[in-house]
Amino acid sequence: MAVDATQPYDDQNVFAKILRGEIPCRKVHEDEWSLAFHDINPQAPTHILVIPKGAYVCWDDFSAKASEAEIAGFVRAVGQVAREAGLVAPGYRLLANAGTDSHQEVPHLHVHLFAGRPLGPMLA
Ligand code: 5GP
Repeated sequence: MAVDATQPYDDQNVFAKILRGEIPCRKVHEDEWSLAFHDINPQAPTHILVIPKGAYVCWDDFSAKASEAEIAGFVRAVGQVAREAGLVAPGYRLLANAGTDSHQEVPHLHVHLFAGRPLGPMLA
């Protein structure tokens, strides 16, 4: 079910549980600011989720409340994950859903990283 991204952060969401180690994940990267892991229901041969460690519902929430260091750390981590996975030459797609119309399901900011096949034109 899509989430209302205007609601306060819910610390019982599944990614908060992954960050606390209450639910396992297939981790590909972790640093001070971020965690990246494989999506449980991949939509491409490579489908990685990159999340900030801070409690933010979606991109606008993050950009309004996070420190400069958190924002820089998270944005750098997304690129680092792509580089470390060897995706720069074949290419990849980033996507971040926010709120009801986007069909965001997990109310903790995450960037999807899709790769591993031609992804076709972007659909609105
Ligand atoms: P959204 O629709 O919120 O942008 O995407 C949420 C993503 O989280 C989906 O692609 C879904 O497959 C993934 N997901 C949901 N629950 C889990 C989980 O417990 N573990 C992992 N690794 N991914 C999950």
